[in-house]
Amino acid sequence: MPPFSSPDTQRTYTLTDLEEAIFPLTPLAVIGHPIRHSLSPLMHNAALADLSKKNASLQNWCYYRLEIPPEKLPKAVGLFHAQKFQGLNLTLPHKVEVIPHLFKIDPLAKKMGAVNTLLWHPDGYWGFNTDGHGLESALRKDLNVTLNGEDVILLGAGGAARAAAVQCIERECRSLWIANRNKDRLNQLLHILHQHYPNALIKTFSVNDTEALRNLPIKATLINATSLGLRSEDPVPINLNDLTGSFFWHVYDMVYRTDSTPLVKHAKMRGWPAVNGLGMLVWQGAYALKIWSGLDPSVNIMREAIETA
Ligand code: NAP
Repeated sequence: MPPFSSPDTQRTYTLTDLEEAIFPLTPLAVIGHPIRHSLSPLMHNAALADLSKKNASLQNWCYYRLEIPPEKLPKAVGLFHAQKFQGLNLTLPHKVEVIPHLFKIDPLAKKMGAVNTLLWHPDGYWGFNTDGHGLESALRKDLNVTLNGEDVILLGAGGAARAAAVQCIERECRSLWIANRNKDRLNQLLHILHQHYPNALIKTFSVNDTEALRNLPIKATLINATSLGLRSEDPVPINLNDLTGSFFWHVYDMVYRTDSTPLVKHAKMRGWPAVNGLGMLVWQGAYALKIWSGLDPSVNIMREAIETA
């Protein structure tokens, strides 16, 4: 099949398209299962269009979206590499499973136990994780929160929570309080964190234990890394009405939607600063693009592309 004259970046491609080697020039892609909802092609292609005004070499770069089921991941990674995809972003369920297929892994991503960004190298892909940096930048820009010295309350123990926990401890937060519905998963996360950071102050609590909630730090940053909030009818991951007294938290909800999540709405009703995960999405993408191109993309252009979608 001949290369596309103008690539259709709105389309969701498949492994069959990859097998047919239809991606011309310097391709990039986000892969996941499901992936149809991903806004990454929009923001990356907007950033590339802007960058290429000053860097002609980027005019041939294009970012696609591919649906890759978990059992096809090993084959897909080989094909991406053979076709010289300069960079890949990975989302659920590939962030952990891809690790054995990498040539090299960044030390921070290794601690997080997950990668979301791959960089092409002749010997194989190098793996990175930009979620932690993305979160840190979004906290600073959107909430004016610096992790150093901060008390952080983290909800969740999945891939995003792992990245958040490692980033908070790397930046020397004062304490980290973690809650998760599934206690086995919570214990796995604790085990990893204690292994890498034996001196970090890490505590656990349950969101259903109202007594325990009152013992949480009065001034803190709350980060929701559970998937609760993706749908408007979702319950809040923590009932803020159970907190009586002079609590004042900054609230970061990693769930990305262009409107308010239920948690953000609740926090704002209490008069607390609160935002959803759009900023983190943009910043983690900007760091990935920098890894691939060596250039700093415009986060404003990336954000605008998503907000106007
Ligand atoms: P994941 O590995 O599947 O983890 C999901 C987490 O959500 C687990 O802690 C899980 O708890 C919890 N959870 C799911 N349903 C729940 C429920 N009904 N009640 C309580 N807890 C529930 O997913 P992930 O990759 O960590 O992603 C988590 C969220 O972060 C998603 O919304 C994702 O879109 C978002 N995210 C955002 C960005 C960004 O750039 N803004 C980046 C990465 C992820 P159990 O262990 O108890 O099941």
